[in-house]
Order: sequence, then structure tokens, then C-alpha cells
Amino acid sequence: MKTKKRDLIKYKDGNLYCELADIWIDPSKPVKRALITHAHFDHFTFGCEEYLSTKETAILIKKRIGDNVNIKVFDYGDEFKVNGINISFHPSGHILGSSQIRFIFAEEKWLITGDFKLQKDETCKKYEIVKTDYLISECTFGLPIFKWDETRKIAINISNWITNSPDKTSLLFCYSLGKAQRLLNEISKINFEGNIYSHDSIHKMNNCYRELGIYIKNTMKIENKKNIDELKGNLILLPPSLSKGSYLKNFKNIQTAFASGWMSIRALRNRSGYDKGFAISDHADWDGILEVVKKSEAKNVFFHHGDSEALSKYLSEKEAINVLIFEK
Ligand SMILES: [Zn+2]
Ligand SMILES: [Zn+2]
Repeated sequence: MKTKKRDLIKYKDGNLYCELADIWIDPSKPVKRALITHAHFDHFTFGCEEYLSTKETAILIKKRIGDNVNIKVFDYGDEFKVNGINISFHPSGHILGSSQIRFIFAEEKWLITGDFKLQKDETCKKYEIVKTDYLISECTFGLPIFKWDETRKIAINISNWITNSPDKTSLLFCYSLGKAQRLLNEISKINFEGNIYSHDSIHKMNNCYRELGIYIKNTMKIENKKNIDELKGNLILLPPSLSKGSYLKNFKNIQTAFASGWMSIRALRNRSGYDKGFAISDHADWDGILEVVKKSEAKNVFFHHGDSEALSKYLSEKEAINVLIFEK
């Protein structure tokens, strides 16, 4: 492993930063100018003077936090210049509006993947292969043990889990933005005949997706006073934050499950406290990360957001790709 000198993009105060453009990428603290890869809250912080994102990301952010935020929007592929650096957003296949960000300066290309996946997902634009010299990739699931099943198979497993317990109310916990809509889209393509309810936070995002032209199966907003018998044999989507505590007392005779890539690890599944886990992720698995690295044709790669040791070893030994580490 080597450490490179003067890089176009570097790590500063725990965030990705382009000094020449004085622009931060998904900063965790208020700054003057921030590029936002997507509308998940771990990539967004309040208080920046100006945000730049795709149109869809801006709409989702405003839906979540209100209109009082200064966001400049761009279409995928549109190049704009900041201090002589060409910057553009490209689809990353993670959630609606999510993007990779490319920087070009003096014919040197840098690409930040943001959160990404290659798996099929009809609720957002497909990951675009972008060629680059330097690649900064997330590696949340960067171990060979992570290998995702087809989404359709997961949807069928979820459907069977519900129909096999007709006397129970099935509570499926999943992220309100992205995962819930992807599940609903996928469930609409199989033969599930029960009703689907969703928590207000999910319901809001469903409507936002629909307004942006994405097909999302019809769901009803769950009301706290719902007749318990009405819910038997049906599916309720809830955000993970409600999995512990008093909210569950609203229901009787329940079974619970969590939809997350982490559920592919048995030990985590057992410790999670849910009755069942469905391994579905909006991040790339091991093969997905390797495919993106190879197809990007990058000769130099940085990893962040995860454990990169196995990837670094594999890429430097098998592919002769330089894996670099950021100077802290
Ligand atoms: Zn994300
Ligand atoms: Zn993330």
C-alpha cells in the first residue's frame, strides 16, 4: 500500500474534500459548498450555505426536511465548472436520485461512487459505468461472503413468510427511503394478495417516488387504532427506529423481520432480535465492487465506508491495481 502526495480529492476532518474547488462531498458538518450524492441522512447535514445535487435528490431532501434549503440542481451527465474543475453527476443505482460524482481537472479524472449497487432496481436509474483514473469507492459489504440473491427471490421469500402465518400480523422493518420503495416495487411483480400498510415516514416517500414517475404498489398508511383483526395475514412496513420500544404494543400476535444486507450473516441475524432476516441491500456486494473497479479502468483506487483489507489484497495481487490510502 502506498500513500500518494497532492491529490485532487482528499480526506479532511473525516470527509471527502476537493481543495481546488473548495467543495465538500456529503460533508458531516456545515460548510460553504457541498455536493450531495443522495438523500440518505448519513450523507446530508444541515447548515451548508449551498448544496449541489441531482433534481431527484433535491426533491427528496426537501420532502424530508422542508424547503428552507439552498440546493442547486443538475441533470445526470451535465457538466458544470467550479474553479476550473469539471464536475458531473452520474447514476449510482443506490436509490432514486443517487449519484456518483466525477471530477475532471487537467485531463485527470476522479470518480466518487457514493453509495452504489449494480443489482436490478426499477425504482432508480441503473449504475452507469464511468471510466476514471482515480476511483473512490464505498466498500460497505467488501468481503467475499457478501453475495446477494436475486431481488425477486427475496420478494417471494417475504410473501411466503407472510402467507405461511395467516393469523399473524407481519411487521417488516426497512429503511424508509429507497429500500421500502424497492421492496414494494418488487412485491408488485409477484403474486402477493394481502394488503400492505406503511408507516407515515415510508408513506411520504412512496408518494414522492410516485410523483417522480416511479411505480410503487398501493399501500395504506398505518393508523395506530387500526382494527387488529384487519391486519392479520397482511404486511406492514416500518422504519427500523420503531423496532424497539412501545410502538409494537399497537399490534397483537406479530412476527417481525428486518430487510438488510447485514441479515446475510447468521450471527447478526440471531442477535438482531427480529424473528427473521431478509438479506437485501442497496449497496454492492463483493462481486459488484470488483466489477465496478475493473470496468472503471482506474489504476488507483481508494476505499472508504467499510473494511477494505480483503479488497486491497485481492486487487493488488490479482489485478495489479494500486489501492491507496488517504493521508489523514
Ligand atoms: Zn445511502
Ligand atoms: Zn451511506
